[in-house]
Amino acid sequence: METLLADINRLRRERRAVILAHTYQAPEVQDLADFVGDSYGLSVKAAQIADADLIVFCGVQFMAETAAILNPDREVLMPDPEAGCPMADMITAEQLRQFKAEHPGAPVVCYVNSTAEVKAESDVCCTSSNAVKIVRALGDVPEVLFVPDQYLGRFVEKQLGRRLVLWEGFCPTHYTLGPETIRKMKRLHPDAKVMVHPETRPETQDEADYVLSTGQMVELVKATAHRQFLIGTEEGIIHTLQKAAPDIDFIRLSDFLRCPNMKKTTLAKIKTCLETRQTRITVPDDVAAKARVAIDRMLEISARK
Ligand code: SF4
Repeated sequence: METLLADINRLRRERRAVILAHTYQAPEVQDLADFVGDSYGLSVKAAQIADADLIVFCGVQFMAETAAILNPDREVLMPDPEAGCPMADMITAEQLRQFKAEHPGAPVVCYVNSTAEVKAESDVCCTSSNAVKIVRALGDVPEVLFVPDQYLGRFVEKQLGRRLVLWEGFCPTHYTLGPETIRKMKRLHPDAKVMVHPETRPETQDEADYVLSTGQMVELVKATAHRQFLIGTEEGIIHTLQKAAPDIDFIRLSDFLRCPNMKKTTLAKIKTCLETRQTRITVPDDVAAKARVAIDRMLEISARK
């Protein structure tokens, strides 16, 4: 492992590479990254990178595509290009065009967990940390289409007290966490607070003390007086949380909260990726230009006070 890390560190210097990792990545991948964050944090970071020739993206395809859209003059590489997101694949651009045709004039809000082609058909993107703010910013329009995650959409509906027209996509990993598991774990750990992600089902969210994006979870644990949390999102976040708050006890709510795609990236693949400059993620110019409008609109609304 030490030789592998030494090789990666040499190669990243030689290649002038920056390594970005999502909080759902394995601990050893997070530990070597230049920046670890949620999809919003990584989007912002990708847009701000000034002094690197290469971006190595340790996450899933839609995230690397977003980095490529925001960095058209840099190579964006994925150590394992097969790391996809089943939720993102639950809607195609053609299906979205049909959905829009059924609701003429309604703006489309697209969760960043979507392909570049779907973003290109959307008016504005959102992440789990800013979805409420983005939908609110659209004002009092009669209909808003929300794709692809129905559960994040239901979370936004609850916060804003309004209905959205939801696409019926979902995250298969977060779907596995049911309310009965939380009730059982609360009985075993009565002093613990429960945090879940808005990609979980509404009845699961109803059992939680906090429904937060991963970035918001990290901010909360840095400031809280609570000493024990039950965690209802992908297990990789526990490493991030433990580093942010070493004195807090974090407990996984379930053994099923492991996204197989997020775990495809390994140190060996990162080394090979730096050596071979493979695999480059690209987005066709016309798709990237349209998707960028939706991403930039999200970044602009999200930065508003
Ligand atoms: S955790 Fe869910 S939403 Fe995230 S990449 Fe995996 S399948 Fe997609």
